[in-house]
Amino acid sequence: MTTYREFHARSIRDKDGFWREQAALVDWKKPFDRVLDYSRPPFANWFVGGTTNLCHNAVDRHLAARGEQNALIYVSTETDQEKNYTFNQLYREVNRFAGILKGLGVGRGDRVLIYMPMIPEAMFAMLACVRIGAIHSVVFGGFASVSLATRIDDAKPKVIVSADAGSRAGKAVPYKALLDEAIALSKCPPGKVVLVNRGLAELPMVAGRDLDYATLRAAHMNDEVPCEWLESSEPSYILYTSGTTGRPKGVQRDTGGYAVALAASMKHIFCGNAGETYFSTSDIGWVVGHSYIVYGPLIAGMATVMYEGTPIRPDGGIWWKIVEQHKVTTMFSSPTAIRVLKKQDPAFLKKYDLSSLRLLFLAGEPLDEPTARWIADGLGKPVVDNYWQTETGWPILAIPRGVEALPSKFGSPGVPCYGYDVKLFSEIDGAEVGADQKGVVGIEGPLPPGCMTTVWDDDERFVKTYWTSVPNRQVYSTFDWGIRDKDGYYFILGRTDDVINVAGHRLGTREIEESISSHPNIAEVAVVGVADQLKGQVAVAFAVVKDASKIATPELKLAHEGEVMKTVDAQLGAVARPARVHFVNVLPKTRSGKLLRRSIQAICEGRDPGDLTTIEDPTALDQIRAAIADR
Ligand code: AMP
Repeated sequence: MTTYREFHARSIRDKDGFWREQAALVDWKKPFDRVLDYSRPPFANWFVGGTTNLCHNAVDRHLAARGEQNALIYVSTETDQEKNYTFNQLYREVNRFAGILKGLGVGRGDRVLIYMPMIPEAMFAMLACVRIGAIHSVVFGGFASVSLATRIDDAKPKVIVSADAGSRAGKAVPYKALLDEAIALSKCPPGKVVLVNRGLAELPMVAGRDLDYATLRAAHMNDEVPCEWLESSEPSYILYTSGTTGRPKGVQRDTGGYAVALAASMKHIFCGNAGETYFSTSDIGWVVGHSYIVYGPLIAGMATVMYEGTPIRPDGGIWWKIVEQHKVTTMFSSPTAIRVLKKQDPAFLKKYDLSSLRLLFLAGEPLDEPTARWIADGLGKPVVDNYWQTETGWPILAIPRGVEALPSKFGSPGVPCYGYDVKLFSEIDGAEVGADQKGVVGIEGPLPPGCMTTVWDDDERFVKTYWTSVPNRQVYSTFDWGIRDKDGYYFILGRTDDVINVAGHRLGTREIEESISSHPNIAEVAVVGVADQLKGQVAVAFAVVKDASKIATPELKLAHEGEVMKTVDAQLGAVARPARVHFVNVLPKTRSGKLLRRSIQAICEGRDPGDLTTIEDPTALDQIRAAIADR
């Protein structure tokens, strides 16, 4: 048996041999000529010349062996619905949706934006897009009109697929109204909008543009739409993620490399087998949803659970009830979700038969030891932390238990996954740092299959953003601080940039600042991420107002804070809403005008604000201290 150390070493030393073997885990229409073309670094093309299709690998190829087995198990505790789709049924629904899209003129390379709650039709739409070679861009349902409009303008979708509403804790959350606002703001409105009517909210239709999904589906009932065979590097999807500018980046994913990476990860990291059941509690709007609600489990021939609801409704046992009922073998969630469950009666962990469950994976944010221990002991199952990013599409650090069940260490997501040549670099001069020294986590190029291939429509931004922190070397920066111990285990120590992580969701402080600044009475604002017991971090804003009379009394101040929050809700969505908006007269900046966000953050967390030799007005920090003490 190979040890994991040898397995990883070979994946770096003999990329061709290693990935050729992994590529056999998926079907190719035409075999590839070359495993890797890295002649134009940092752009890597995997499985050059091979043609394949994600939908074929996720659905069609399983029909013969497991057509009558479950592919999608849909559970909504919001609408009290449960629906199962076998691979045969999923195949039919995807063909109908593909027929609808083709009928609307969508073809290879066209973009389709999907702004959907967690309903089966969202998955049908994604699979239908990749079936016909269209590029989907799923936008998280929690984002509001301005966030949505920015993404519409960047992706320029021919068609948008949406619904009347989502539902959160039993309350309808409008989608169509926000979508209409976004389209009104957009410079590139879509030609057609396909709408699923769930009967949860008003659904006014715009004549000539809006189309009812049920009517279209009936018209395409018997459609059979063949898979479009794409060259491996052709894009499968774009997924927007926040960075340090106000403009989100469209992470572009290929087709063949992604299929292989996911298939390999299901085997070596997630230990999932065909015929078993995978349950990821994420949302299709995030990368985990793409990789491990939709494509990964299906490519592996597993049934996947799609869950609409909260972890604690009707009670804190709901997820474990699903595990028992559907014999879930593999589960994927986030530390925040577990911290939410930790506040519930621990008896829920013992109430259901969890004997089918083998492993619980947690990712998206640092996993603290008390949370890890609580859930591991409570369930009596191994908990596997794993570290990755929207950009990489699958884990960078984990314990690849399918190869060797190395021991895990609390606080560490583990060791570099095969394919990733992970190193730590000094932020100052880009020199590599050794064991037990803090550095920026970097990946020596090429990135392995499945990782982002570029920023949508902006190769230059891809190179400048990710590949310039280490001079004269092709190194991808994760923008995370890390440290490696002498056994080769990594520990992640937070972001090096202004990106914050709220409940496992990445948010750019600049985007929130821009939104707050659009409020007519805000002159200036700084947003920082502050440590939070439940959500890991929350956004906290410090704002300077134009007209101070509007915050002259404590009551007025509170009302003004509420108003600012509402602005963010309406533009970006409640997910980006700051937990607090404090008002100050001046913001701490350097003499060259750069906001001292790290110092503000340190004060909020009761830490030393660091080097302040360049500060323009030292009293500005006192104002931050006073503002926090005030509440
Ligand atoms: P996203 O692209 O939204 O998934 O966010 C990726 C970021 O989340 C990473 O760059 C890390 O800062 C953080 N992150 C993800 N997984 C972990 C983990 N297991 N431990 C610590 N931080 C994590």
